[in-house]
Amino acid sequence: MASSPTALVLGAGIMGLSAAWGLVRQGFSVRIVEQDPVPNPRGASVDHHRLIRHAYGAEAGYMRMVDPAYAAWDQVWRDIGEVLHVGTGVLAVSGRADGWLGESRATLAADGLAFTDLTAAEVAARFPIFTEAGIGAAFHMEPGGVLLAERIVAGLARHLTARGVVFERARAVAVDPARATLRLADGGERSADLLVVAAGPWAPRLLPGSLAPRVVPSRQILVLLEPPAQHREGWVRAPMLLDLAEDGGFYAVPPVAGTPLKIGDHRFSRTGDAEADPREATAAEVEEILAFARPRLRDMAGYRVIGARACYYDVEDAERFVVEAIAPRCLVMSGFSGHGFKFAPVLGLALAAATSDPTLMPTLAPWAAGEAAPAPGLLAALEPVAA
Ligand SMILES: Cc1cc2nc3c(=O)[nH]c(=O)nc-3n(C[C@H](O)[C@H](O)[C@H](O)COP(=O)(O)OP(=O)(O)OC[C@H]3O[C@@H](n4cnc5c(N)ncnc54)[C@H](O)[C@@H]3O)c2cc1C
Repeated sequence: MASSPTALVLGAGIMGLSAAWGLVRQGFSVRIVEQDPVPNPRGASVDHHRLIRHAYGAEAGYMRMVDPAYAAWDQVWRDIGEVLHVGTGVLAVSGRADGWLGESRATLAADGLAFTDLTAAEVAARFPIFTEAGIGAAFHMEPGGVLLAERIVAGLARHLTARGVVFERARAVAVDPARATLRLADGGERSADLLVVAAGPWAPRLLPGSLAPRVVPSRQILVLLEPPAQHREGWVRAPMLLDLAEDGGFYAVPPVAGTPLKIGDHRFSRTGDAEADPREATAAEVEEILAFARPRLRDMAGYRVIGARACYYDVEDAERFVVEAIAPRCLVMSGFSGHGFKFAPVLGLALAAATSDPTLMPTLAPWAAGEAAPAPGLLAALEPVAA
């Protein structure tokens, strides 16, 4: 009897876990090498939450990837035995009708996705936790919500362990794509038929030739807030808030499922080192995020800062994902530019499908980069199975 093909995955963030999940479904025997505990508090895939939403500026490719992403999450929920998504809807606001918000409206409308335009007064009337001051344009969308990131990573790791995936706690110090081999800090080597490098913000250093010219680590700040008593009820049913103005904006994640209210900055710092730099946020970094939120959150002076930290992720120049073969037996998953979590399972399924069908491999990179529709067959694993 032929033995199953083997895969080695570097990194147990959401991308490595999702690749492993897809590959196990294709019959691979998988080993994951990870330097830190899983979930990894130093990785890009946790804290409590990540957002999933269709509003994507002018990026129609990523907007169209959201429904397949939801279908892939449904398969994750079935496998891990619980639904770790809370629907909140999306409220997009901006000082101006053009820019990211205007492009999102146009791109959503072109594909017939429903949203409701709101005036500034309607925003404040419908969601009294927000102010109307300075709002030049706004819309609300029903679909969209919060993925409970840390619990998802833990659940997937448990599921994969039960499916026979081996987790090895070790640090890789070198990657040899041509030999599909990792060299470990203790001098040992691990090889497989296929190597997937999903090393988050550490990846550019490990692949200085193929990745470092395109992808850089980026230090990003998150602030956790406790709303004042009069607004706690309002936040229970609040939508995610997206105020992603090009010249400085922020997003707010409602305090769903016992998690704290979180605000963050979507602009990229494009600086920092995920290995060496501290995770503590400075007072100046916290103040920068609070300054964006102050005009939007009513009674902001009454909000208490209950935590703040730095997180690192990997940014590609045009915010396009890099999911591609860099050698015949080595794939890289990188460049997720602060918006990859929502797509991880669908990317994992597509990567595994491309691995098992060489005609699909050339179609993987342009689709993952948001530049092309998926080739027929790339997302076949999402199609309903005939009864
Ligand atoms: C603050 C913040 C907010 C975000 N918001 C959203 C959002 O709302 N929606 C969304 O879709 N996305 C969002 N993202 C992006 C998303 O979370 C990331 O794209 C995704 O988590 C990246 O996962 P990853 O597996 O590539 O990286 P990671 O989670 O960093 O995993 C990489 C793993 O590789 C391991 N590793 C690296 N090098 C080595 C080595 N040499 N040896 C052994 N192990 C190694 C690391 O220890 C790490 O655990 C956000 C990210 C951050 C940081």
